[in-house]
Amino acid sequence: MKLATKYIHAGAEPDPSTGAIMTPIYQTSTYVQEAPGVNKGYEYARSQNPTRKALEDAYAQIENGRFGLAFGSGVAATDAVIKLLSPGDEVIAANDMYGGTYRLFTKIFAKYGIQFTYVDTTDVNNIRKAISEKTKLIWIETPTNPLMNITDIEAVAAVAREAKAWLCVDNTFASPYLQNPLDLGADIVMHSATKYLGGHSDLIQGCLVMNDENLREQLYFIQKSCGAVPGPMDCFLVLRGIKTLHIRMQRHCENGEKIAHFLRNHPKVGKVYWCGFEDHHNYAIAKKQMRGFGGMMSFVLKNDSVDEAKRVLSSTKIFSLAESLGGVESLINHPASMTHASIPREERIKNGLSDSLIRLSVGIEDVDDLVADLTAAIG
Ligand SMILES: *Cc1c(COP(=O)(O)O)cnc(C)c1O
Repeated sequence: MKLATKYIHAGAEPDPSTGAIMTPIYQTSTYVQEAPGVNKGYEYARSQNPTRKALEDAYAQIENGRFGLAFGSGVAATDAVIKLLSPGDEVIAANDMYGGTYRLFTKIFAKYGIQFTYVDTTDVNNIRKAISEKTKLIWIETPTNPLMNITDIEAVAAVAREAKAWLCVDNTFASPYLQNPLDLGADIVMHSATKYLGGHSDLIQGCLVMNDENLREQLYFIQKSCGAVPGPMDCFLVLRGIKTLHIRMQRHCENGEKIAHFLRNHPKVGKVYWCGFEDHHNYAIAKKQMRGFGGMMSFVLKNDSVDEAKRVLSSTKIFSLAESLGGVESLINHPASMTHASIPREERIKNGLSDSLIRLSVGIEDVDDLVADLTAAIG
């Protein structure tokens, strides 16, 4: 089935009681049982909810996986993956990733005795060198937030298989429309559905998709035992969002490409971080594993002035100054003080995330208006 058809029909079965074409919002905490232990497959809404079930099926379908699980946020989904591990186990993670993932690893899980080793995953040899007998999980993000670094999923999957470790890919930035890590050998795909999957900046949610039944059982057990489940209203909204994912992503890609080239040609703009440039250091890998390059990018001004960057960040009219990404509206963000403030400054600088970096989530407005807005703001 082609992507457009799949996204519109993913998870959608007519409601068994009425035939409603849209999955109803089953706003309920419990389900009446016919006799003790005799039920219709639903007992208590932390464990099962029909709206969530429809969405979990949709997640599986759009990521070409067998099983999907929905969580109350992207970080709750990440939290569930780390809970597969035990004290003494080691995770090899990217040194450039979403600040909240880094915070969860270093501030919450490290104290439970799980070890995290951070490496530059854009070169698979760095991962290979870091593998030890304790390595149970490799965690990568590609493209990365906010520096748009690319890691070769297929190559890392081969290293993970050899080490008998799981590979989990945070696929939030690409969305399933542009990249499907399970097809490339990953064991688990994670999304912040808050972003492109929801697509309208109106909810917080996360998901995991996998193929292995045993892994699904373990993660489902964590989901219901720890209870970080999304409500049915949010599940309904993500189901609705997924129906237009392909149309939105096409426009995000088109607008993104135009804005990236506009920035690169602007006399006051310095380095532009976007994985669609042919001279991006891992362009060949991006081209191999992605179907397009999306609407996320970062840039610095040529003079590298933090004050100038802050002035630009405060003067756009259509790009709103806000955290988050992947919605229909364009956003502008200052990673050093906003999305990535939870990473210590020296770590950030070491990994190339400067105080003057500006991140854009290019929306699906008319691109001429977006260019005019940036032109006026950069001055
Ligand atoms: C936003 C984000 C997350 C966290 O998701 P939440 O839904 O905010 O909890 C994880 N990874 C990436 C790449 C993100 O952009």
